Order: sequence, then C-alpha cells, then structure tokens
Amino acid sequence: MDEKLFSIIDSLEQNRRLSFEELTWLVSHRSVEGAMLLAKKAAAVRDSIYGRDVFVRGLIEFSNICKNDCLYCGIRKSQTACQRYRLTEPQIMLCCQQGYALGFRTFVLQSGEDGWFTDERLCQIVSHIKTEYPDCAITLSVGERSRESYQKLFDAGADRYLLRHETATKSHYEKIHPKEMSFDHRMQCIQDLRDIGYDVGIGMMVGAPYQTPEDLARDLLFIEDFRPEMCGIGPFIPAAGTPFAHFPAGTLEETLYLLSIIRLLVPDVLLPATTALGTIDPLGREKGMQAGANVVMPNLSPVQVRKKYMLYDNKICTGEESAQCRNCLDLRMDKIGYTIVSDRGDIRREKSHV
Ligand code: SAM
Repeated sequence: MDEKLFSIIDSLEQNRRLSFEELTWLVSHRSVEGAMLLAKKAAAVRDSIYGRDVFVRGLIEFSNICKNDCLYCGIRKSQTACQRYRLTEPQIMLCCQQGYALGFRTFVLQSGEDGWFTDERLCQIVSHIKTEYPDCAITLSVGERSRESYQKLFDAGADRYLLRHETATKSHYEKIHPKEMSFDHRMQCIQDLRDIGYDVGIGMMVGAPYQTPEDLARDLLFIEDFRPEMCGIGPFIPAAGTPFAHFPAGTLEETLYLLSIIRLLVPDVLLPATTALGTIDPLGREKGMQAGANVVMPNLSPVQVRKKYMLYDNKICTGEESAQCRNCLDLRMDKIGYTIVSDRGDIRREKSHV
C-alpha cells in the first residue's frame, strides 16, 4: 500500500479531519486497495454506533411542480416532457397510513419548489401527520424557503430537513444552476435550518458536471465543519431533456469511496444508500451499506405518480407498491447481514459532540 495513502487514511481515522490538500489528494488518488481499506474502517465505525441496524425512511414525493431550473434535474421548470402532479392531503395521509402499517416511523415529504404549498397548507399537512402519528418523525425536503417559513414548519411539528448544499464551491454552483439561483442563499437556508433546531441533511451529487477533485474536497470540508445530522450523496445521473443529458453519470466506485470518507469524518452521521446509487448498480444500496451507510429511503408515493418524479433516467422502484419495496429491501439487507428496524432512526450523537 502506498505510504501516503496509508498515512492519510490513518490520520482520517484517528483525527476525523483532514486538510483541504489531504482531502484533494485522497479524492484524486482513489485505488481499489484504498477504497477497500476505507470501507472496512467506515463499516467498523458505523457498527460501533449503529450496529447492523438499518433505518428506513418512507419517501413521499408529493409534488413534481418546481419553479427552479437546475440544469441537472429531470423535474426542472423547463422540462416540458414531465407530466406534473400534486398529491392532495388525503393522498399524502394515505401514504403515511400504508407506511405506518409497514413499520415506517419516519416520513420524508419531498417535492419541487411548488408555490401552491404555502406555509399554511404545508403546516396543516405536517401537523395532521404529527397528530395521527405522534411517534413518527417528519422530514421535509421542499427546497429553499424563508427563515420564517422554516420556523413555522418546525413549530407545526417537522423534525428534520434535507437540503443538499449541492456543491460547496460557489463557481461550481453557478455552472450547474441558472443565474436566478444563489449559492449564498442556499447556504443561508442551511444555516437557518440549523439555528431553528432541525436535524439537517446536506449533500451533493458525485460526478456532477464540471465537478473537480478540489470541489469534492471542499464538499468534504464543509461536511466535516458543519457536522450534519444527515448527509445524502448519490451519483449524478443524466436526465433526458435537460441541458446535462449528455454528461456521463457519476460512478458507483467514487460514490462508495466518498460514503466511506464521510462516515469517517462524521462517525455518527445518518448516511443513506440512495436510490440513485441503486439505479447505477443493481446492488448499489447493498454496497453502500458495506461502505458505511446506515439508512435506506424506499418510496411510499402512490404508484401512479412514481414515474412522474423522474429526477434522472431509469430511476428504480417506480413500478412496485410500497409493500413490495419494503419487502424487497428487507430481503436485500438481510442477505448481507443487516436488519431494517422499525424506529424513528434518530441520530445517536457521540458523547464528545453532544
Ligand atoms: N426541491 C428540493 C430541493 O431542492 O432540495 C428537493 C427535491 S430535489 C429534486 C432533490 C435532490 O435531487 C437534489 O438535491 C439533487 O441533488 C437530486 N437530483 C436532482 N437531479 C439529479 C440527477 N440528475 N442525478 C442525481 N441526483 C439528482
């Protein structure tokens, strides 16, 4: 094993931090050997905090209407081929009912930035779910809103919020978003969510167009500094009809490598093996677990709308009923020695960081 690689991985394991130069070196010198060593250490760290329990989140994609035009996204405003939909409150409640019966104790409500969902409407849905299912956590993933709006949603009962930072490099952010969108505003939203008291999830796509090893190193430094409760990373996958339709997808190997590094930087982080990872490789989610992940997010949306929430091409799990998805994941995890648990799946903060 390369001396330098070994000493960087050792330092990462011991100190849980690396410098920008070290992270850049690590990202740009990925090898099979290094990836295996990182995965082994990451899985051991994960095991010491969470064991082989896998937390599940029931994902409800409740609207694909979006005012934004992110250049990579299959539900961007300009995507004319996308058939738009919006679930009603009773439809969302039905997803929760089915999910609860299947053992889900966290619901993730995700959508495009759909102005129809005013604070009033969204708070009503959040408090309705909280009243019916007080033992469940609610995660929102509905994009950028004002601090006041985040506060109202928190007061209505939302516990967690996923807002990927997408990239920690301003110039890179500007290459993958239209000029109406602002890097500083996204970062401000993330800070507002933290200040209000949400458990916050950040993250980025791996292999996004124009991404360099230095950009990834800045992402990792941001993750190291911010210490998010959750971190969602998955490969970029091109979506037909978008400006980035012809860019190559991110790779399984690089995504797994980064999952392992993130687990070592933030040992207690809730780290999903994402649907995108399962899309680029049939065993992507299983391999994600083996690289240090501890969360899966099966789809609870009604089957008739699933194909319409097409963020990227060939997205998996768009044809099965929720029960089938849950069952399939149970079997997949069981096969590799992991167990999906019926639990809110809160972060188990390490004592030194409480
Ligand atoms: N509108 C909300 C927001 O902006 O956070 C939530 C929905 S958004 C579609 C959820 C995530 O999908 C984004 O943060 C992005 O990282 C991911 N995504 C979008 N297009 C993608 C693509 N082509 N490949 C992989 N991930 C993608």
